[in-house]
Amino acid sequence: SVRVRFAPSPTGPLHIGGVRTALFNYLFAKKNKGTFYLRIEDTDQTRFVPGAEEYIFEALEWLGISPDETVGKNEKFGPYRQSERKHLYKQYADELVAKGFAYYAFDSAESLDTLRKNAEKEGKTFIYGPTSRNGLENSLSLSAEAVNERLQRGDAYVIRFKTTADTEIYTQDIIRGRMRFETNLLDDKVLFKSDGMPTYHLANIVDDHLMETTHVIRGEEWLPSLPLHFSLYEAFGWQRPEFAHLPLLLKPQGNGKLSKRDGDKFGFPVFPLDWVGEDGTKSAGYREGGFFPKAVVNFLALLGWNSGTDQEIFSLEELSELFDLERVHKAGAKFDPEKNLWFNHQYLQKITDEKGGELYQKELALHGYEIPINSAVRAFTLIKNRANTVKDFYTLTSYLYEAPTTYDEKMRLKWTVETTDYIEELVEVLQQSTNDDSYAIEEEVRAHFAKSNANMGRILPGIRLALVGEMKGPHVFDIIEVIGRTETVKRLQTGLQ
Ligand code: GLU
Repeated sequence: SVRVRFAPSPTGPLHIGGVRTALFNYLFAKKNKGTFYLRIEDTDQTRFVPGAEEYIFEALEWLGISPDETVGKNEKFGPYRQSERKHLYKQYADELVAKGFAYYAFDSAESLDTLRKNAEKEGKTFIYGPTSRNGLENSLSLSAEAVNERLQRGDAYVIRFKTTADTEIYTQDIIRGRMRFETNLLDDKVLFKSDGMPTYHLANIVDDHLMETTHVIRGEEWLPSLPLHFSLYEAFGWQRPEFAHLPLLLKPQGNGKLSKRDGDKFGFPVFPLDWVGEDGTKSAGYREGGFFPKAVVNFLALLGWNSGTDQEIFSLEELSELFDLERVHKAGAKFDPEKNLWFNHQYLQKITDEKGGELYQKELALHGYEIPINSAVRAFTLIKNRANTVKDFYTLTSYLYEAPTTYDEKMRLKWTVETTDYIEELVEVLQQSTNDDSYAIEEEVRAHFAKSNANMGRILPGIRLALVGEMKGPHVFDIIEVIGRTETVKRLQTGLQ
């Protein structure tokens, strides 16, 4: 049965592209009644970042796409952290050396650096591979005695894969089809390092095999590694999984890869949750940005995949039934923040008024306002069709709790003696009224002004200006209901001054 994995390296917060990879793996597993597991690829100790692993689990949980198996959960093929599988890898590297598929290399960092710099001077890139490895300090060039001596002496070495010279490798990918790679252009990648740790390539292939992975679904940036991975499976004599490389996520204008900095630039989250770096800088996440996880999932599912219909709103369950790799595009997918907001807006319209009221209450509490639940529900229903995220609850309604301190100048100039008279009358009506709800107050006020044949169309803008400070917000009498008669009178009187 299908077994797929998400294999992040905990080197920082999970980028939204990584979340999309996790999601597609999750959906593919659900669609095929298979298993979605998560493996932590933490063999590169120099890139370890505290908190990154917890962040990954928390983010996936928030999105509702937690793995079936992982660290601390159904550890059928555990451990699921590569640093805890350290003891496993050396034997596989040794096996490849013994079979002639890999070799020892003793080249120092300095000598490799010189080779790189010299190549650069000629406008080339140095490749440690089939056409250049002869004559360098490795077991293909040195005598067996020399190699043994150096190993016994404890010289630092790495184990490199021995790419076959002068040939081609054909790879197969569900999304990209067949591809051809010339081996002379490939690196003899390091499989095992002198610190006793495997590199990504070795650990990844060994674990995908041991954990019985059937499909490797990952980002396009791993495509250049595919010929090596094919070769490794062949060298080990293992059946290889199927591969599917997902299209890149592009900047909104399509000009290049979406980066963390784009998020900061557009003031838009590219992480699922807020992340505070070691230097204290904060990167915005969807959760804290007032987004709904379901909307984020829906949006992400359509970055690089389509259902073949016009439908845009999908639940996770629907996606789990519809998803297939055949409909994943090859071309990069543009990340459109506007569309992202649109999805969230749609989900915001679907929640119940009670739920909306609760979220409203919580959001306003963050700004220091304690709103009783019935007013919160009322306020939510008044503005929900203009809100995209929960964060908009405050920005769209702050005037309900904070009297205006400035007034729209243009409107203020239209303020006439007549307006002043009307507002004074209104203050009296409200002071004597016993009504509290929008409808009843409106009836009463309209009845009052009808007696003098006053034109409500001339009165209402003045009231709004006094209450809000500008010409925005819902129906005037709805505003009066929410802020209450006492506060309304206060604002009207201030407006009169
Ligand atoms: N550890 C790799 C990463 O950080 C995994 C790549 C793969 O899925 O093979 O993305």
